[in-house]
Amino acid sequence: MSEALFVVNAGSSSIKFKLYRAVGHDVALILGGALDGIGARPRLHAKDEIGNVLTDRSFAPDEVAKASDAQHAIGDWIVPYLAEHELIGVGHRVVHGGPHYSHPELVDDEVLRTLESFIPLAPLHQLTNLDPIRVIRARRPDLPQVACFDTAFHRGHPEIADRFALPNDLYEDGVRRYGFHGLSYEYVSGALRELAPELARGRVVICHLGSGASACGLLDGRSMESTMGFTALDGLPMGTRCGALDPGVVLHLIEQKGMSAAEVGRLLYNNSGLKGLSGVSNDMRELLASDAPAAAMAIDYFTLHVAQAVAQLAVTLGGLDALVFTAGIGERSPEVRARVGARLGLLGMSLDEVANAANETWIDADGPGPSVLVIPTDEERMIALATLRLLRAGT
Ligand code: ADP
Repeated sequence: MSEALFVVNAGSSSIKFKLYRAVGHDVALILGGALDGIGARPRLHAKDEIGNVLTDRSFAPDEVAKASDAQHAIGDWIVPYLAEHELIGVGHRVVHGGPHYSHPELVDDEVLRTLESFIPLAPLHQLTNLDPIRVIRARRPDLPQVACFDTAFHRGHPEIADRFALPNDLYEDGVRRYGFHGLSYEYVSGALRELAPELARGRVVICHLGSGASACGLLDGRSMESTMGFTALDGLPMGTRCGALDPGVVLHLIEQKGMSAAEVGRLLYNNSGLKGLSGVSNDMRELLASDAPAAAMAIDYFTLHVAQAVAQLAVTLGGLDALVFTAGIGERSPEVRARVGARLGLLGMSLDEVANAANETWIDADGPGPSVLVIPTDEERMIALATLRLLRAGT
């Protein structure tokens, strides 16, 4: 039986999972899938490593009403596949590693308690991430589980990138710019290092543009600054999240509009961003296909803010050698990339229209400007590799 690793990426409305074969210090995909639409239109779908559909099943909303139902549905479905392998560990995406975890951690009772103490820092995500760890620990206490953090990649960023202009006691209390999407940045910067080692040693901005969106400035593959801060609300506008906002707006909503903290939270996390701006959709594909003027304005707002973030990070880095696009929008929307690129002419950027339209890897035009690339992200593979590395180190 070959050794295998299971990777869980649990969100509030979906749980993504992948099963990998461990081959030495590398991993090879066996299957991957998700149970999404939890509580609304639950659907479990999975494919094998070459894209053959293994299952595609819908559930009634009350059959999979909450995350724990989804865990059981996935658990029941995956049992026969797990039985074909020797499961050596489980890797989890955990959004918050707090101020200190800068590497993946093998989970024991103490680590779990520490991670629980970060729930107030990411109330929406941290609980959902920790839940499958607890469930698996109860069923298989012998099975090593590894927590891989979205914040860890940024822990080495300079102090100036870690600060808000607030009194120091708040900083000591954990009110810091943690930054997120770290697993994606680590994967993409590793892929860039393989593609173009010289470029990867330089000044690079990676734009992770998916439902959540952020950008990160890297020097020699290390995070120097990123657009997400204390929470995953900051920085770029996203599908449903507002991005950077004058904090006075929050005071206004509470003091003048009488909104509760929970109502403000729902507004900023679930009803803002592209969805709030356009009134049409949170989905970039739908906005690009829409004739509504507000949809066009939302796209314009998004691309302007992405370009502004790239320019801002270029200042932090002292210049720009390469811009990399990744995640759903970054990997698949030539239109969005073209509009961001056009706004960055002042940095000498110029895209090759044909290469961009074909979603090729290298999409900049010949010339002295920064390189521009499209590199698909793979957070689950990053988690699998990190989990394997920790397990192998412990043997
Ligand atoms: P998640 O954070 O949910 O993993 P993804 O990285 O899958 O998100 O990105 C989802 C976003 O990518 C959505 O806004 C979706 O509309 C957008 N997207 C996917 N494919 C395309 C495409 N071909 N053109 C434009 N946008 C796309």
